[in-house]
Amino acid sequence: MGIAEKIAYLKGLAEGLKLDEETKEGKVLLAVIDVLADISDELEELEDEICELEEGIDAVSEDLSDVEECLYEEDEEDEDEDECYATTCPSCEEEIFFDDSILEEGEVICPNCGEKLEFDLSDLANATGMDDED
Ligand SMILES: [Zn+2]
Repeated sequence: MGIAEKIAYLKGLAEGLKLDEETKEGKVLLAVIDVLADISDELEELEDEICELEEGIDAVSEDLSDVEECLYEEDEEDEDEDECYATTCPSCEEEIFFDDSILEEGEVICPNCGEKLEFDLSDLANATGMDDED
């Protein structure tokens, strides 16, 4: 038996006993049953609201998973696209960094001395994730 049913049962009892609303005891008992009914109504409303909130949280949680998946996928794509290489300028010995698009062109201008470098692929080191060693 739920709270609402118990209170309905109490109300029925009170009516069956023909509680006299004019007596002090009758007033108190009827007032208590009234308050219990109010509390029960509010509990029901709260339960409904909690249910709605849970549904809302589930929906948000699912959306968040989609967003996370999207972000991780983009991260992986970014790493593929932004492959970075390093080489040393033979003229000034400055280290030069460049990516795939420049590699396809086959040459790069040294930002330090302006020397045009043509790539010898065997000299290239993949600089992705490289630590600052010096
Ligand atoms: Zn140079």
